[in-house]
Amino acid sequence: MSIDCDECLRRLIEENKGNTPERRQEYDEHVATCEDCKTDEPAYAAYQAEMAKPHEPDPDDPVRKAVLAYAEAHIAMKNAKPRPKIRFPWKPLLAVAAVGLAGLLLAPQLTSPPATTFEQPTLDSGKEPTSPADRMKWAGHYHRLGYDDLARKYAQLVADDEKAPPELREEAKKLLAKLK
Ligand SMILES: [Zn+2]
Repeated sequence: MSIDCDECLRRLIEENKGNTPERRQEYDEHVATCEDCKTDEPAYAAYQAEMAKPHEPDPDDPVRKAVLAYAEAHIAMKNAKPRPKIRFPWKPLLAVAAVGLAGLLLAPQLTSPPATTFEQPTLDSGKEPTSPADRMKWAGHYHRLGYDDLARKYAQLVADDEKAPPELREEAKKLLAKLK
């Protein structure tokens, strides 16, 4: 059986490439033919090495930020029903880790991140957004994270808010249409 890139990345991270000889062989076969997954392997090793190093937490560390954002979103989602699925943003994390470890911290890729970079959600602990602009921001974040139910909830609040600026309501309606 051949596997796809998602499965390949999952095995790299969760099974250290495959927890049976057969699964490992499928992994190796995919990596041998896939440029994309070939680059994930050293990036993940570098990421693990970096994580294993004892160091003072740097609040601006992009990897740390992405992990925290994931954790915050995960906590915010705990009571969401039905419980949505969230994929840990490994791909962008690995991209960040690879760049960081290559000693290119000031590289233009990081000062203006590529479109694939994981966007940090501003979901602080349980504080509900009250302004239309904040609600719209949350809706956008939830949408990007794949929590469409929550994205819909906040977009709907903005769309129904007669005091919200018309351009925001328009934006909310567009998002709702997309989430249909
Ligand atoms: Zn692949």
